[in-house]
Formats: sequence, C-alpha cells, structure tokens
Amino acid sequence: MTATPRITIDPAFVERLILEMAEHGSDGGTGVSRTVYSPEWVEATRLYARRCEEAGLKARMDSVGNVWGKLEGSQPGKSIVSGSHIDSQTPGGRYDGILGALAGLIALKALKEQFGQPKRTLECIAFCEEESSRFPSANFWGSRAITGGTRVDDPEKTIGFGGETIASAMREVGLDPALIPEARRADIDSFVELHIEQGPILEHANLPVAVVTGITGIRHYEIELRGTQNHAGAFPMDLRRDPMAGFAEIASGVVNTAHRWGRPAVSTVGRVHVRPNATAIIPDSVTFTLDARHPDPVLCQKLYETHEAFMREVAKRRNLEISWKIMIDHPACPSDPGLVSTLRGAADTQGVPTMLMASGAGHDSQQMAKIAKVAMIFVRSKDGRSHTPDEFSSIEDIVAGIEVLAAGLYRLAY
Ligand SMILES: [Zn+2]
Repeated sequence: MTATPRITIDPAFVERLILEMAEHGSDGGTGVSRTVYSPEWVEATRLYARRCEEAGLKARMDSVGNVWGKLEGSQPGKSIVSGSHIDSQTPGGRYDGILGALAGLIALKALKEQFGQPKRTLECIAFCEEESSRFPSANFWGSRAITGGTRVDDPEKTIGFGGETIASAMREVGLDPALIPEARRADIDSFVELHIEQGPILEHANLPVAVVTGITGIRHYEIELRGTQNHAGAFPMDLRRDPMAGFAEIASGVVNTAHRWGRPAVSTVGRVHVRPNATAIIPDSVTFTLDARHPDPVLCQKLYETHEAFMREVAKRRNLEISWKIMIDHPACPSDPGLVSTLRGAADTQGVPTMLMASGAGHDSQQMAKIAKVAMIFVRSKDGRSHTPDEFSSIEDIVAGIEVLAAGLYRLAY
C-alpha cells in the first residue's frame, strides 16, 4: 500500500446533498418521516441513484429496494462497500442513516475524481429499511436480504402499523417480494458504515469522530413477578407477598449493577405494568421490561447472568414467583480489528483526531458482519440527540468523518 494522500471533501456539496435528501419526507422544521416503500422513500431512492450516476457510479436498485452505486476496480475480487439506511424514524432527523448512505456516495465520488479507478471494486449503498418505523418486525429488512436472513414467509407475515403486509407495500412500489433472495450477496469483502453517534460521548470528549470497536449485544427481557393480592391496610408487612417491593429492589439493583460495572455496560427498566394498579391493593403481579447491553461478547453474557441470578435471589428471598421471556437477543458484534486499525491510521493521515468507542445502538453493520468484515465510523451528535427532529451534526464534523471514510476506502481499494 502506498502512503495515503490528503483527500478533499467539498463541504458545500455535502450540505447540499443532506438538505435535498431531507426534503423527501420533510416533517415540519428539521424533522424527516421517511418510512420504507412510502412515496417519500421512492423519491429519496431515485435521488440517491441519480446522484450516484452523476458521480460516475453505476447505480441499481436490488430486488428488496436497496440502492447500490458501483465503482468498478481494475482487478478482480470481492467488493469494498460503504453505506447506511435511507429510512427514518417518524419523525426522525436529517442525519440518522441517510448520512452514512450519502457519505459512501461522497467518498466514492471524491476518490474517483482525485485518484481515478481503484484496484478493488468500491460500492456505496442506501439500505432500504433499518428503523422498523413502518413495520415493527421488519428491522434490518435491507441488510437482512443481502445476508440471506429473510425467511420465505417473512414478506406476508411482516405487518405494518396500518395493517398492511410488507409484501403488499413492496408490490405497490414495483418490487416483487418473491425475488428478495436475489438481493443476496456473497462477494463483499469489507463493509464500513458511517453513522451519527446518537449519544454524548464524542461531545464530552471534544472530538469530531470515533472509530467503532464493536456493536453492543442487546437482550430484552419481559419479566413477571407474582405475589398475593391483598388489602393494603389489613395485611401486616411481615405477612405480605408484595411483588411491587420485589420489583423496586430488582429495578434499582439491575440499574446499579450496570452503573457499578461502568461504561459501556447499560441496563434499563423502561416499562412496567402493575396488576391491578390500585392505591389500596397490594398488587397481584408486576410485569416489567429489562434492556441490558454490552459490546464485549463475554462480558455481555456475564451481565445477563448477573441480572438473572440477582432477580432469582430477590424473588426467592421475598417468596415471590418469577418468570421471564427473552423478547430480543442480538449478540455483540465486534468490529474487524484490521479494519479498525486501517480506519484509525486513515484518520491520522487526514489530521482528524479520533477515539475508539463501542456502539450502544444496533446498526446494519451487525447484519453485514455475517458475510463481511465490518467496522463503523461515528460522527459527533449535538447534545447526543437522535431519533428526534432536533438531531444535528455540524458540516465540519461530517466532513471530517467522510475524510476518514474516504481515506480508509483508499487504503483498502487503491
Ligand atoms: Zn440509524
């Protein structure tokens, strides 16, 4: 590999692409609501393909609705790919997902203009769906199709908030759900995803960009604690089987455990349902959720085991019945160490200061990791905010992130 040269990214071009994309699904002020296979989504995918073509990339939409831009290499071999999702929350902001799709396009355009044809084939991608904002069980619909993670009956079984199937939504925009398997790829070597951080760590560190060491493992529990429903006045404290008392101890205990472990462990009790939920009644049962996450595969399991042992101990000591269901269980997804060091080295060549961090949110990269080496680049989020029209990243930070991406792709492909 030759030394990595300085790569110039035009801030005005970056800003223009972000703003014109935000018009498709514009939801008052800086909000964007662009759900998969909606009319706004169709416009956005057309715009993305057009901008790819203008940049000299070969654009195509695959059978599930992902848009690819391709810069053919002079040598054979698997592709090096960069991108993110084009759909949004309802409403989300102008950056979540789409910024990474545009970053891939902008990086490829800059590399082609400044260094000509690469040795290895480079591709950018706008994944059709990641947010589950129209179909609650669709998450990673685009990247799952690419990695062969879509089951044959998924299109008819994936139902939207409006009652429609994702199969019918696909047909409405001219896609045939039976052809989803054709979106599968087995010729991708590396996948690099640029994304906004969606948290406050970079801002607190006073840095514009991070290289992501891994995506957190996530487990969602739904837990039920059962006791005996009785009169709140007539039943002495020492004779009660009170699931609320057990819940309070468990909720504070699991949160404290993650707090004691320190970053990047996180545990959250986000939803609670009390039965019968009345002032003068010792509850019959308390049902609640626990969201626990850690990016290290070993520590992730240890965090879950610590929580489970604690919950059992509390229930036993308080003479309560406890049971739980695991609703979501995504394993931790470490980045490829070689790609991480390539990106950090690339950042140094562009004079962009970076730090390493783990991602506490899920991303398409964790799907792509099934078929390719993956790593991510995070760009600082103002006040750490995301999944709101208020999310914001400055053009300076975004350009710094795209410089790191482009320099990384240069190192991989030229
Ligand atoms: Zn996202």
